[in-house]
Amino acid sequence: MKPLLHASLVNDPFKDPVVYVDILWERRGILFDLGCIHRLPPVSLLKVSDIFVSHTHIDHFIGFDHFLRIVLNREKSVRLYGPKGMISNVAGKLAAYTWNLVDRYNLVIEVYEIDGPKIRRGDFICARGFAMEEKGEFEHNGVILDEPHFTVSAVPLSHGIISMAYSMAEKEHINISKDALERRGYQVGPWLKDLKEKVRRRDLTGEVMVPTKDGEEAVPVAKLEEAIITISRGQKISYVVDVLYNEENLAKIVGLVKDSDVLFIEAFFSEGDSVRAGERYHLTSRQAGEIAAQAGVKELRLLHHSPRYKDAPNLLKSEAMKYFRRG
Ligand SMILES: [Zn+2]
Ligand SMILES: [Zn+2]
Repeated sequence: MKPLLHASLVNDPFKDPVVYVDILWERRGILFDLGCIHRLPPVSLLKVSDIFVSHTHIDHFIGFDHFLRIVLNREKSVRLYGPKGMISNVAGKLAAYTWNLVDRYNLVIEVYEIDGPKIRRGDFICARGFAMEEKGEFEHNGVILDEPHFTVSAVPLSHGIISMAYSMAEKEHINISKDALERRGYQVGPWLKDLKEKVRRRDLTGEVMVPTKDGEEAVPVAKLEEAIITISRGQKISYVVDVLYNEENLAKIVGLVKDSDVLFIEAFFSEGDSVRAGERYHLTSRQAGEIAAQAGVKELRLLHHSPRYKDAPNLLKSEAMKYFRRG
């Protein structure tokens, strides 16, 4: 089946981190982190509906101003997720500018800050000079966004401060076999949508009235599910940056990113600099490779290399890949 999520690293791994995910069937994009985003064309940025920020160290959040500049006069809402403190971080960014003459602009920035099992929401409304409107709190169970076609989950990790890791999982595809329909003489129609919905809910009870060439026929849902439906797993794309390597973080990361199709993960230091990596709350290339292997991910994509390795640009990748393939 053709992939429907297309994820790419926006910059080379020595530049500030940001991953763009193009959702092909929705003309919509999402971002993991807001590092340097100047290489993304406005047409891509204008499609962005949701931004998932790991933490607000400057290399992960400096792109906010550029993003705002591009979307400012658009009629849209953008959702921005991040760890506790995100609402005041955004308020601070917006307070740096003067906001008169914007009363006809319809941009709303919805900020969701994840604080343990709770998410607090504050909306910044452009037409009111980006005044913040408190939208209360709600509980989550690890899934912070549940859309018709995909979910996004998050876990808080230790980086001295909290750094959030995210995973986007497409929901399974429920496909109708056209050949199987034709063989049985079933006609297409709205009943197929209802059937898919029942299968999605795993409710295989009862019968469905199926239009045929000569009229209609009552067919058990369970029989239809077996005869005309195929279910395929969706893609999973995960993003992990700026974390200390310890047992607790390791267990949380592996749990989150398990069986990902693509894992974007930092490899900030070389395996020889693991002491320094621990002191700076970052991963080494070896740790990144081992995590990917342990989690059984299909493809490992490295980002966020320390500039100290610029003279050996492939060192971190080759170290990580060695341990990824060994696992
Ligand atoms: Zn950081
Ligand atoms: Zn960083």
